[in-house]
Amino acid sequence: MLEIMKEYQCDICIIGAGPAGLNAALYCSRANRDIIVLEGKVQSALEKTKKIENWLGEKSIKGETLLNKFRNHVNKLENVRIIKGDVISLMLGMGKNMISTRAANITADVIVIATGTGERKEVIKGESNLLGYGISYCALCDGPAYKEKIVYLYGEDDELIEDALILHQMGCIVNIITPKDITELPVNIEKIKKKSINILDKMNIIELIPNSEGLLEKMKCKSVSSEQEEEIELDALFIFSHVPSTSIFKKAGVELDDKDNISVNQNQETNIKGVYAAGDVTGGLFQAIFAAAEGAKAGINAAKYCRQLEKK
Ligand SMILES: Cc1cc2nc3c(=O)[nH]c(=O)nc-3n(C[C@H](O)[C@H](O)[C@H](O)COP(=O)(O)OP(=O)(O)OC[C@H]3O[C@@H](n4cnc5c(N)ncnc54)[C@H](O)[C@@H]3O)c2cc1C
Repeated sequence: MLEIMKEYQCDICIIGAGPAGLNAALYCSRANRDIIVLEGKVQSALEKTKKIENWLGEKSIKGETLLNKFRNHVNKLENVRIIKGDVISLMLGMGKNMISTRAANITADVIVIATGTGERKEVIKGESNLLGYGISYCALCDGPAYKEKIVYLYGEDDELIEDALILHQMGCIVNIITPKDITELPVNIEKIKKKSINILDKMNIIELIPNSEGLLEKMKCKSVSSEQEEEIELDALFIFSHVPSTSIFKKAGVELDDKDNISVNQNQETNIKGVYAAGDVTGGLFQAIFAAAEGAKAGINAAKYCRQLEKK
C-alpha cells in the first residue's frame, strides 16, 4: 500500500535524539519555539554505553537509563514533538529548510544537526561482541577501569598518541599497536618513548579472543611486512577509527573538516545561515557532557536566529 507522506512545519527541526539533540530541544523549548526532534534508527552512542561514570550527579549509570531520563524530560515539553525517521534528503539555506524522511516532509526555519558519529562498523573480527568487555573507543570514558592493567591503543592518527599519554597518566600499562611505520607517527612520539610506552609498529590486529567469561583476553596480530601472526594477552584495547556519517549533510552544502566532521564556530553555526550542529557530529572529545553542552549552545543560538528572522 502506498504510504501518504505527512507534512510538518516547525520553527526549529533538530536532527538526532542523543544528548546533543535532546538538550538543544530543551533550550529551544524554553525560548517558546515550536520544535520537531527527528530520532533516527541508529542508536544513540549513549544507548550503547554499558556504564557511564563521568556524568556529574550519577556515580554510575547505564547509558540507556541516562538517555531515557533525557527523553522523559523532553517528552514532557508541550512544544516539542519527537518523530521517528531517518533523514534521507535535505535542502538547506534557501529561506525555509526542507528535510525529508521516508514518511514525512518537514519545513523549518532553523536546523540543528545532532546525528552523532553514526553506526560504527566492526573493523576487527570479534570487536562488536567485546564492546564494553575490554574493547573501548574512548580513553577518557573507560581508562580509569584499567588502572595497572595492560592496555593497547590501535590506530594511526594523532588521537592515538594523545590518548596513550592520557591512559599512562591514569595508571594503565600502555602499549601502542599500529599498522604504520614508527617513523610515520606524529611528532610527539618522543614523549611516548620517555614514558616507556611500548610501540608495536607495522602490525595489524586481525581477531579478538574472549575468555570463558566473555571478557577480552587475547588479540591475534599479523605483521604488515612478514605476514607472520602472533597472539598477545591484554586487558583492554582502545580502537581509533572514527567513521563519521556526514556525507548527506555535505551533499546539502554543509562544510566538513579534514576528518569529515561538521565544521562549526564557537556558536555551533555551520557555514549555512540558520543551520547549527552539535555533539559528536562535530568531532571533539566524544563525551556525553560535551554533546549536551554543545546542544544547549546550539539551542540558544537557534532560538536567537528565529528571533532575528522575525525582525526582518
Ligand atoms: C561504547 C561507548 C562508550 C561510551 N562511554 C562514554 C562515557 O563513559 N562517558 C561519556 O561521557 N561518553 C561516553 N561515550 C560517548 C557518548 O555516548 C557520546 O559522546 C554522546 O552520546 C554523543 O551524543 P550526540 O547527541 O552527539 O550523538 P548520539 O548520542 O550518538 O545521538 C545521535 C542521534 O542522531 C540520530 N541520527 C543519526 N543519524 C540520523 C539520521 N540520518 N536521521 C535522523 N536521526 C539520525 C540517532 O538516532 C541518535 O538519536 C561512549 C560512547 C560509546 C559508543
